[in-house]
Amino acid sequence: MSEEKSCSFCGRKQSEVKKMFSSEKTNICNECVTTCAAILQKEVNYQQRAQMHEELPKPEKIVEYLNKHIIGQEDAKKVLAVALYNHYKRIENPVYNDVELEKSNILLLGPTGSGKTLLAKSLSKIMNVPFAVADATALTEAGYVGEDVESILSRLLASANYDIELAQRGIVYIDEIDKIARKSETSSMGRDVSGEGVQQGLLKILEGSEVYVPVKGSRKNSTTETILIDTTHILFVCGGAFVGLVPDIHTKKGNKVGFGSVQKAEMKDFKVDQKALVHYGIIPEFIGRIPVIAQLKELTNKQMIQILKEPDNALIKQFEALFDMDGIELKFEDAALEAIATKATERGVGARGLRGIIEEVMLPLQYSCPSKENLESCTITAAVVEDPTKDPIFTFKNQQEG
Ligand code: ADP
Repeated sequence: MSEEKSCSFCGRKQSEVKKMFSSEKTNICNECVTTCAAILQKEVNYQQRAQMHEELPKPEKIVEYLNKHIIGQEDAKKVLAVALYNHYKRIENPVYNDVELEKSNILLLGPTGSGKTLLAKSLSKIMNVPFAVADATALTEAGYVGEDVESILSRLLASANYDIELAQRGIVYIDEIDKIARKSETSSMGRDVSGEGVQQGLLKILEGSEVYVPVKGSRKNSTTETILIDTTHILFVCGGAFVGLVPDIHTKKGNKVGFGSVQKAEMKDFKVDQKALVHYGIIPEFIGRIPVIAQLKELTNKQMIQILKEPDNALIKQFEALFDMDGIELKFEDAALEAIATKATERGVGARGLRGIIEEVMLPLQYSCPSKENLESCTITAAVVEDPTKDPIFTFKNQQEG
């Protein structure tokens, strides 16, 4: 009887492991294979990181990439490109010629659906680093009901597949930062656990410190497991609409902090400064940690139409592809695109509204078109956008064979 095989690496017997791989002279068990694979993966990661430094994209290149995916917001793109470039230069050289380079987190200020999240996410794609989104309104001061600020880092860690080194170079987008403004001193009763309390909590992770992060949903999944994360090189991008801070051209309201007298001409290029943010209820220490401010503008109808058509994965392109798979050419009349953009603007949620509107319009057609025989093309008109029960223009292939 042949002897039981044992792993040439760790010595465990076949009966002690799940699987043994054998060649003529040697054996290796599944556990040793896993260990080797993990080591190789780490090396690949290191190589990628080294490569990243060599090829750190210059600000102009960054803007070029952003232009492919994001319409408009030229000023914000420039500010972000420079901030991103500096950030990753700084990671490679925290001290340069005896000068200590400090981190500059970013504040994105602009209306809903103007591309704040999309911009932040695109930055992570350019740098090939993990990305996480968090909502500031879900956070509360430690010890109170709600999420602790550390939960943000748990998410980043998960998106880095629990590679701590990778997570420590990631990008975090914290949405609705304006909603954690300090409540006004006079009306505050008790502790402000979801406002100033959260800002205080965020301060320490924003400026760079070592934080014990709970590992939720990790493979090991013990409830108390924590991992130490250094946030020094994590780039935080905070975003908010700050309604009332930028004077609203349409309503002329929004002089909460005394901008009522701003003239229309000035409004167009209105620059929000740090002083205005303090008035809004962001504590000065917090603002000190997000020194780079990029402002996004409300999207115009024309830009909405561009968003529908132009980006690499534009909505229209997606629907065209879906129809193409059924052999049907999908077309949109210019007036139809105009009507979709107008509807989205009316909903007041920026480009975020586009998808819902187009889904509504396309649903009946996606239902009926695949079973229409010999359908060649389908053209969406403005009338269909106004009333999706109306028929678009259909053309059919000549039926020749019988
Ligand atoms: P915000 O974070 O400012 O509220 P998002 O970035 O989440 O807005 O935008 C929602 C969606 O709208 C995005 O996923 C994208 O499809 C689209 N979008 C918004 N702004 C733009 C833009 N400037 N260019 C291209 N698409 C945009």
